[in-house]
Amino acid sequence: MPDQTDIHIIYHSSDAPMSKWQEWLNRLDPRIRLVGLDDPAAQTAEVMITWSPPYGAIAALPHLKGVLSLAQGVDHLLDDPSLPRDITVGRLIDPFMSQSMAEWVMLAILKQHRDEAAYAEAATRKDWVCFEPRIPADYTVSVMGIGAIGGHVAEKVANLGFNVLGWSRTEKTISGVTSLTGTDGFAHCLRQADYVVSVLPLTDDTRDIYDAAAFQNMKSGAYFINCGRGLQVVEDDLIAALDQGHLSGACLDVFRTEPLPAEHPLWVHDKVTVWPHVSAQTSPITAAKQVIASIMAIRDGKPPVNPVDISRGY
Ligand code: NDP
Repeated sequence: MPDQTDIHIIYHSSDAPMSKWQEWLNRLDPRIRLVGLDDPAAQTAEVMITWSPPYGAIAALPHLKGVLSLAQGVDHLLDDPSLPRDITVGRLIDPFMSQSMAEWVMLAILKQHRDEAAYAEAATRKDWVCFEPRIPADYTVSVMGIGAIGGHVAEKVANLGFNVLGWSRTEKTISGVTSLTGTDGFAHCLRQADYVVSVLPLTDDTRDIYDAAAFQNMKSGAYFINCGRGLQVVEDDLIAALDQGHLSGACLDVFRTEPLPAEHPLWVHDKVTVWPHVSAQTSPITAAKQVIASIMAIRDGKPPVNPVDISRGY
């Protein structure tokens, strides 16, 4: 039974069941009651927490003051052409997610750096083969996008001893990372890198940013790692660069269409490792506290914990 002290919050996510968020939010604030878009209480609710709501859903909610992305990215909200441009939008910034992404990127790099596949294959033949060791400082990793997540990733990779370049819109100071900006910085990062790691948000400027020209600009033998967004990669151009032998391989967590369709050539490409968009998953356990704080701020007409500049696109 709804109580008059209940705070109705609209919940819509294709990612996690409502009950999971309900449980973790109620541990901190028992007044929160999550309701679906079709619940009558949605018509009076002031805040929505969401991952990938249907286009038009936000504009149709008469009392909505703000929307909170249950992710660090907000392209799933800003892509909606009917999104009211004056609505408050917030997102998560969760150190757990930065840590998860750093683990995933280091795993992808270190599997290549330590010849993991070749040793595993040799072991199937009981072959005690030894390859030449590689020195991390001889290898360059370019991290494209060094914000909340990418900045942490770049720092962790630098701590492994790799030479690290970072690309962003504005200049950064991150220990062990050379900061580059602009189109020249983009080209320099691609040209220098043995590993190109992309953690960029999807915006008008970054859509299709990895096309044939970008892949050709990468060093011969470079390895491409994408955990930003799939729509940043022209997948046919990536496959061509791999098939030509220009790139040595790719590790991909995000795709133009998700889930990746069963017939998609990336599933079976022998130089590609496919992950199902799990490199840095949202956890209500670590994020609930800031979600509650943002909900309360938005209801009070204040900015959420991590506000999003809609005009900037991320
Ligand atoms: P931030 O907004 O904190 O950082 C974004 C970075 O990209 C900033 O350094 C920003 O530059 C840079 N950037 C944006 N646009 C440009 C541009 N046109 N040219 C150069 N640099 C640019 O985002 P997060 O680090 O929190 O997240 C990044 C993205 O990672 C998310 O938007 C999402 O797409 C993806 N992600 C993927 C996950 C997964 O599981 N695969 C999980 C979580 C996030 P500046 O600092 O100067 O503004």
